[in-house]
Amino acid sequence: MTFKAIYIDKAEEQYQCTLTGLQDSELPEGDVTVKVEYSTLNYKDGLAITGQSPVVRRFPMVPGIDFSGVVESSQHPDFQPGQKVLINGWGLGEKYWGGLAQKATVSGDWLLPVPEGMSAYDVMVVGTAGYTAMLCVMALEKHGVTPQSGPVLVTGANGGVGSFAIAFLAKLGYHVVASTGRKEAAERLHQLGAQAIIDRQSLSEPGRPLAKEQWAAAIDTAGSHTLANVCASTMYGGVVAACGLAQGMDLPASVAPFILRGVTLAGVDSVMCPVPVRQAAWEKIAQLADRTVLDSIGMLIGMNDVIETAQQLLDGQIKGRVVVDVNR
Ligand code: NDP
Repeated sequence: MTFKAIYIDKAEEQYQCTLTGLQDSELPEGDVTVKVEYSTLNYKDGLAITGQSPVVRRFPMVPGIDFSGVVESSQHPDFQPGQKVLINGWGLGEKYWGGLAQKATVSGDWLLPVPEGMSAYDVMVVGTAGYTAMLCVMALEKHGVTPQSGPVLVTGANGGVGSFAIAFLAKLGYHVVASTGRKEAAERLHQLGAQAIIDRQSLSEPGRPLAKEQWAAAIDTAGSHTLANVCASTMYGGVVAACGLAQGMDLPASVAPFILRGVTLAGVDSVMCPVPVRQAAWEKIAQLADRTVLDSIGMLIGMNDVIETAQQLLDGQIKGRVVVDVNR
């Protein structure tokens, strides 16, 4: 049996990514084989497909850091043929073959059932970005933040993580302040649930160790000066969940917010996050996911469009979440 896959190889130092046909016998080892329905294109996939950055750590590789589909065969006690499943992270598309293929074989320890009330398509619109946003919301709540604590800032508001963070926080009753460099998208951010919008430039330059207290909590996708300024402007006892590096990997900050205002900096990782936390995140997503939000964020493409769209994504030409129908 053959199936379609995006396939990356590096023969004689020549990096090549093609849409090709593979045999079932070429699938890697694993105890669950899934008929993939949807995968997505994330920034990391764009880097892998174009070869712009050394994301792929083994060759040949099938990219795609997440997917959803139906179990075809299973030797794992928790999964049976016909069951709808999803997967995020765990090194898919980097160390292990990922979701941009009609079939995938993975460890059943990494799979989750698609939560009730959501379809295979819905969970991929949410994808790694929405799931990471939910991990951030949960990190704030774990440290005692409630809607009564005060406003919550979200940076990188128009990105995948930022958009879902705004939507989830608003649905939970928080007063959300969105930081963006795209003021023209203000209406979209208000529709997602942001009550106030600030220019990201106000946070992106080197700032003072402590600044005026403005928010009780924050979800930061930018890192660098933005994260330093976000911490410096967080209210006494507040919490900042850090998950991204859209501005940079560095953190040019002082300890002042932590030792003088008791601010907590909570790190969020989606890739190796333990299964019980993932399960809790997806259950919460299923409760909060809004049809209008899902429909406004998702953009569907077929396998023939993947390679071209990956480059457009890196060029910043794509808005919303790119979902790939691997059977189209
Ligand atoms: P996107 O590319 O969709 O969005 C990033 C957003 O950040 C942009 O839309 C923009 O928002 C803002 N931005 C871009 N450049 C800058 C800059 N120089 N300074 C400040 N803000 C900037 O990415 P995602 O939302 O998918 O991911 C966000 C970050 O989180 C990324 O760094 C990603 O690698 C990371 N990530 C981490 C995960 C983890 O497990 N920790 C999992 C998933 C993502 P706007 O236009 O509104 O200004």
